Amino acid sequence: MASQKKCPVPTLAAGDNRHGFRILRVEQIQEMRITAYEMEHEKTGARILHLHCDDRENLYAIGFRTPPTDSTGVPHILEHSVLAGSERYPLKDAFNELQKGTLQTFINAFTYPDKTVYPVASQVKTDFFNLARVYTDLVLHPRLLKETFFQEGHHLTFSNPDDPTSELTISGIVFNEMKGAYSSPDSLMYKIIQENLYPDTAYAFDSGGSPDDILMLTYEGFKAFHRAYYSPSNARIFLYGDIPTEEHLAFLKEMLAGFDRIEIDSAVSSQARWKKPSSIHGTYPIGKEENPGKKTAVNVAWMLAENTDDEAAILLQITSGILIGSAAGPLRKALIDSGLGEDLSPVSGIERDLKQIAFVVGLRGSDPEKASQVETLILDTLKNLAESGFDRELIEGTLHQVEFHGKEIVRGTYPYGIVLMGRVFHTWLYDGDPFAGLNFPGIIEKIRKKWDAHPGLFQEIVRKWFLDNPHRLLSVLEPDSAYQSEQEEAYRQKMAAIKAPLSGEELEKIRRDAEALKTFQSEPDKPEAIAALPKLQVMNISRDIERIPTVKTAILETPAMVHDLFTNGIAYLDLAFDISDIPEELQIYLPLLGKLMTNMGAAGLDYEEMAKRIALKTGGVGYHLSAGMAKDGKKTWQRLIFRAKALYRNVGDAVNIISDILNAGNLSDETRMRDLVYERKNGLHAAVVPSGHIFARRAAGASLSIPAYRDEQWHGRTQLKFMNHVSGQFEKNKTEIREKLDRLRKMIFTKERLYLNLTADGDGLSLLSDAAAELVRRLTSRGSVGNQGIPDMFSGHVGVTIPAQVAYVAMAFPAPTYADPLSAPLLILSRQLSSGYLYRLIRVQGGAYGGMSQYDPASGIFAFLSYRDPHIVKTLDVYHEAFDFVTGNRISPDELEKAIIGTIGALDRPMDPSSRGYVAMMRDFMGFSDEDRLNFRSKILDMTPESLHEAARDYFTEAEKSAVVAVYAPDESLRKANETLNVKLQMESLA
Ligand SMILES: [Zn+2]
Repeated sequence: MASQKKCPVPTLAAGDNRHGFRILRVEQIQEMRITAYEMEHEKTGARILHLHCDDRENLYAIGFRTPPTDSTGVPHILEHSVLAGSERYPLKDAFNELQKGTLQTFINAFTYPDKTVYPVASQVKTDFFNLARVYTDLVLHPRLLKETFFQEGHHLTFSNPDDPTSELTISGIVFNEMKGAYSSPDSLMYKIIQENLYPDTAYAFDSGGSPDDILMLTYEGFKAFHRAYYSPSNARIFLYGDIPTEEHLAFLKEMLAGFDRIEIDSAVSSQARWKKPSSIHGTYPIGKEENPGKKTAVNVAWMLAENTDDEAAILLQITSGILIGSAAGPLRKALIDSGLGEDLSPVSGIERDLKQIAFVVGLRGSDPEKASQVETLILDTLKNLAESGFDRELIEGTLHQVEFHGKEIVRGTYPYGIVLMGRVFHTWLYDGDPFAGLNFPGIIEKIRKKWDAHPGLFQEIVRKWFLDNPHRLLSVLEPDSAYQSEQEEAYRQKMAAIKAPLSGEELEKIRRDAEALKTFQSEPDKPEAIAALPKLQVMNISRDIERIPTVKTAILETPAMVHDLFTNGIAYLDLAFDISDIPEELQIYLPLLGKLMTNMGAAGLDYEEMAKRIALKTGGVGYHLSAGMAKDGKKTWQRLIFRAKALYRNVGDAVNIISDILNAGNLSDETRMRDLVYERKNGLHAAVVPSGHIFARRAAGASLSIPAYRDEQWHGRTQLKFMNHVSGQFEKNKTEIREKLDRLRKMIFTKERLYLNLTADGDGLSLLSDAAAELVRRLTSRGSVGNQGIPDMFSGHVGVTIPAQVAYVAMAFPAPTYADPLSAPLLILSRQLSSGYLYRLIRVQGGAYGGMSQYDPASGIFAFLSYRDPHIVKTLDVYHEAFDFVTGNRISPDELEKAIIGTIGALDRPMDPSSRGYVAMMRDFMGFSDEDRLNFRSKILDMTPESLHEAARDYFTEAEKSAVVAVYAPDESLRKANETLNVKLQMESLA
């Protein structure tokens, strides 16, 4: 993370030549502490950007423009396949092999609608160049074997692979991945808008692949696409971090050697603007017994400015923030208040990953006959705004949000370099100025001045880009309970039609080819090929841990933790309330309490006024429910945590806001409450298909530990069903809800339950403690926290039916916590299983998009999971065999070394300042001290094949006996699975 306030001194100047690269431009962006270089490789024309700063998490990404000309998914299948192996690294799955033994902090590949990007990141220089070297070689010189194409793309096989008389089916990882994507209403919603808003361009096709069209891709077409686009002359290489520019250039010189400049036509064409608006209808799957009422999504989309018109693009982004960015946004509010739907559609907002940017807004939970009303409402609202103008505070709040987020150092699941890469590509990909969108603070300054001089600025934007812009699409996505079965039937017929004319000999050939592929997949790589990959050694890894500066103190009487960290002028406050003794019947209401408290009115202000206040003075106010085991596994802890963050100048106001929410929150606005209930229910529903494996793991783990039980109750299907119940009869339930929530907040928001956590640097911390003291003073005091009861945890194997074309299969078993000597070996084993056994059998051979294992010592659960899986029974067999595999096989020293490095890499994942403060608090709840962490790390680093094997036998022999299974899958697949399973799955629906 960046920790200084200056940008690096430039070491090269425009016009310089180094290692065959011409320096085109050098710019210092003081506000971002970045020195930016734009360069070109003279021989090939490869374009290079380096954002030099003091972040030691360096990022390398090579990207190509890859606009598709059909929906066979060739860019996506290629994205998977190039990473399989190259001449220099002739492996079957170089990506997986590479991932095993590095300290990478990020390694991935992305297919966008018009580009394909391959990023890697590491905090260790040797590791970084190892990764970048292999990645570049794979991308530019892949083997693209036929077997890889079959495995990643598609191949024919039989439902019983040995029997050519059984049904003919298609298998392929991308094929199954996309079947999953085509079951998610959110993905389908986005897809029909993109394809129909730009009907005459590459965006009319799905670069990911439509399951119907993937089959049409040939091996020759696949290789031709690589030849056409994967050349340095079509490449854009993005570099970020503290490694000096010259070192990158020396490295790139070597990597680009041997290539010449070639002419490539990869330009993305613009969509001609329509003369009049258009509309489109689509459908998505719901369960057979589900009621289709209030399940339609109605969206209105506009094609706006070219991305390269950076001023218009930024102004439109801000306008979108004003219109729908907060609960006070007038367009959002008009839609929600209209009652024409349940909540804002999840695709609402600005989309910049396209040549011409789009704005989408709409409602989810609506009905098809209301579509034109929704459209009229949107247009009327915009018309009124263009005429009467915007509330000044609303614009101020939006500008503040942009300022805040431009300033905040964020490192969520992605490195910060990825965030900046995204911004750069918005213009760079279309031959615009790559630096245009980087300097957010500077841009905001400019826009503020413009707005001051010209108060009607945003009204004009609304007029020009929305009201007077005929390129508008009304999109209606309706639920269809027959969708699923029709798709299945169509697939069956299609496969039968392919099969019918085939002779016995031809069928036998399909069987033999599929068998040959399986043989290829199960053969180990040649040792020389594995040895060709550069790798780190355990002895080069630091034995020390990174400590998070922490001082334990008290604010008034309330225990507090203080972290003095560089946060770039932003202060973070966590308020963690102990909820371990909350009566069982109220536990399920806790997420709703968090949601409503942070989104309703308080202290005499209604929700809209509160939302404005939050946008003006904070970077967001949120909540979180968390539970875990103490490190010794004897006790558990449970907390409801509120978080607020603010620029230093706003700390007092921000803490006041959270204090008002806790002490003077107002839950009486029933309409708002109902809207928030719908929003939560719809959000949970939409999350099932994209993260079905997590839902399945929650269901399987729920009977195994109290923290896992809470996780299911607060975030799993139990919560979803509860929200269905609450929203289904809201009028009947509302009084009871309010009464329960009132009881809860009186019980919870007291001094005795509170634990404070403060993160900022010295100046920020003193502001924060003063403000926090005020907050504590205002909280009531109501006796002590009682003892925790043990919940009555349900158990048994479940099969949850979902409207999807694929399955998610989880098996969970109780596992030890951190203090147990088994925890270190189990962490290594879960990693080894994820990248080895399960990866190979579930993904490579089974054709599922993912197969993995997860071990969480904090909740005491070990699990096997599959993602977008075409199988259920077969996958469960693989899980059972996994027990034999780990207990029966001893890992080789080489493999162990990789697993150790990979495990350490995951433990050392960099965190942004706010997460560091948060994680320190979580460790404290667990009682996991730095001393313990050091110990744990040593145990991992010193692991031997013998002790790992011994631990595997000790644990897994017993674990298998208490395994619990949960499967999320389509109804028919579950029924079929139950015909053969010994232990039946108890069928359930989400309704
Ligand atoms: Zn993919």
